[in-house]
Amino acid sequence: MRKRVIAGNWKMNKTLSEANDFIEQAAEKAPQSDKSEAVVCAPFPFLPSLVEKTKGTEIKIGAQNMHFEDKGAFTGEVSPVMLKDLGVSHVVLGHSERREHFGETDETVNKKVHAAFTHQLTPIVCVGETLEQREADETKNHVEKQVNKALEGLSDQQVAQTIIAYEPIWAIGTGKTASSEDANEVCSHIRNVVGNITSQEVADQVVIQYGGSVKPGNIDELLSQSDIDGALVGGASVEAESYLQLVEAG
Ligand code: PGA
Repeated sequence: MRKRVIAGNWKMNKTLSEANDFIEQAAEKAPQSDKSEAVVCAPFPFLPSLVEKTKGTEIKIGAQNMHFEDKGAFTGEVSPVMLKDLGVSHVVLGHSERREHFGETDETVNKKVHAAFTHQLTPIVCVGETLEQREADETKNHVEKQVNKALEGLSDQQVAQTIIAYEPIWAIGTGKTASSEDANEVCSHIRNVVGNITSQEVADQVVIQYGGSVKPGNIDELLSQSDIDGALVGGASVEAESYLQLVEAG
């Protein structure tokens, strides 16, 4: 069966000493589990320290973005080679905040997904609709388009290893969560889309997370759904205590 993945996304929060305090607490207390995996996706400057402090523990460290080129004249960017060299295992790609504020497109997300696999990083690919799209009943079409483009050109084996995070944009940081049934309906649709481009067998292996105002109080209900295999959590992942409760729920 699919292993759940509970991933924290700190976004642009914390200082290095706060990051270190968090990880020392979390690494010590994170439960060992065969059912789920715990990931912390942190700002670039903290990654070396976090990787070092989580060696031999249950927590894996991810980045929140990267460029798709290996190296070169790309001022301000961070490459997959650099992340791999640091010991990072996961990378969030195509988060809606990057699409909205930093010009990320389905095409660049696709290039980054390929680059992640070239360097043995596990991509967490974010998709999701705006409130306008939901109200216009365009959610499934929109998410389908994003998933198709993000996975274009991947081998079946790579698709099977991709984590997809369904994050309705209107639920991110707003306190509004999609109902667990609505979230599951879109996650099931995503699994069907993956099945159409690969096979049912591959689709059954893909981990699909829900993200958008997930917290200790609603994670159980979300995870009880058939096609929700984990969570990508912003606000509630920033404090170690609440992050650990989410990990325990996994
Ligand atoms: P949130 O953010 O949990 O604060 O809604 C989720 C995300 O943006 O990944």
